[in-house]
Amino acid sequence: MPDYGPLETLIRNQIAKTGPMPVSRYMQMCLTHPQHGYYLKRDPLGRDGDFITAPEVSQMFGELVGLWAASVWNAMGMPEQVMFIELGPGRGTMMADALRAIRILPAFHQAISVHLVEASPTLRERQRIKLSDAAHVEWYGSIDEVPEGPAIILANEYFDALPIHQAVKRETGWHERVIEVDDEIFAYGVAKEPMPRFDVLLPPHVRAAPNGAIFEWRPNNEIMTISRRIRDQGGAALIIDYGHTRSDAGDTFQAVAKHAFANPLQHPGDADVTAHVDFQALARAAEDIGARSHGPVEQGAFLNRLGIETRAQTLMKNASAEQSAIISSALKRLTGSGKEGMGSLFKVLGISHPAIEVLAALSDHEPAMGSTPNGMLKP
Ligand code: SAH
Repeated sequence: MPDYGPLETLIRNQIAKTGPMPVSRYMQMCLTHPQHGYYLKRDPLGRDGDFITAPEVSQMFGELVGLWAASVWNAMGMPEQVMFIELGPGRGTMMADALRAIRILPAFHQAISVHLVEASPTLRERQRIKLSDAAHVEWYGSIDEVPEGPAIILANEYFDALPIHQAVKRETGWHERVIEVDDEIFAYGVAKEPMPRFDVLLPPHVRAAPNGAIFEWRPNNEIMTISRRIRDQGGAALIIDYGHTRSDAGDTFQAVAKHAFANPLQHPGDADVTAHVDFQALARAAEDIGARSHGPVEQGAFLNRLGIETRAQTLMKNASAEQSAIISSALKRLTGSGKEGMGSLFKVLGISHPAIEVLAALSDHEPAMGSTPNGMLKP
């Protein structure tokens, strides 16, 4: 008997008992199983971890997000109290950098209370230390628990970690993609019966995809909660992630460990499993609720419009040659569109109360070519 890890043993037992497991359930167990989930056990970020996110690349990222938030606060009519909510704050770096940048606006800084939605006890502890200077910080297990009030909501690389469902097109219709045990290893399969009337929910170009095509979707509860909250209580949300601007067929379920791609069906719980974000689906869900969506725009354009070049030059003025080189390579990494760059793979979507017509740096135009789920993230 091979020595499976504790999560793999659990998944195998469950498959033996109840049959093949939908991809979404597998992904959920891998990431947030209360004892053995990937995020529950460790700090995955940074050079010694599995991946590096934009706030960890440079302080400029969080600072500019802070200035963006200030422009939202202005558009909201400068309320005396505003909740600053972040979903999945990781090490707390983006929030810390944003709050520091906001200090130049004392009235805004004083209006803020910080509310963090975080599943991982390990990361909550890191956030607590990082934000020990902040006046008022509270933690929650889900967005539904955050008290009511006008809010500015931030989510960087959060939605990609929410479980996806996958469906495979067959002659018989669209079947949910499942994980089964085949000759002792995990393998993909499909549910026996097609999903009735699944077609009706799909955009026409996806409906027309050839047999074998895969379509991915996330349940809408998070985006609906965010949008409803903004519609009823005011404010805006900023969602930044890797993904595509147009819903389309494609398989983006991926695993990353130690800065390299891994097989998502191997060593569950020990690698970060994610899937690209369908920004069109998010924007549509927000609009359906009656909130306003802005963008998405590419991260490079978003940061350029907020003045990242100028910020980099200011930082370089007082920097050594070595530090200047680091700042300039961070600028390239955040805004560049080459292989190493996050600038065009990452998109930024705004959601606001319908009375806020414009959100800074997120003008509402479709990029000429909508990106589709085929581009992969370089870990
Ligand atoms: N925003 C951070 C971290 C991104 S990693 C950054 O950019 O550096 C994803 C974050 O979301 C982690 O903090 C992880 O613990 C958290 N997370 C993932 N799934 C979650 C869930 N279902 N509920 C709450 N937090 C979750």
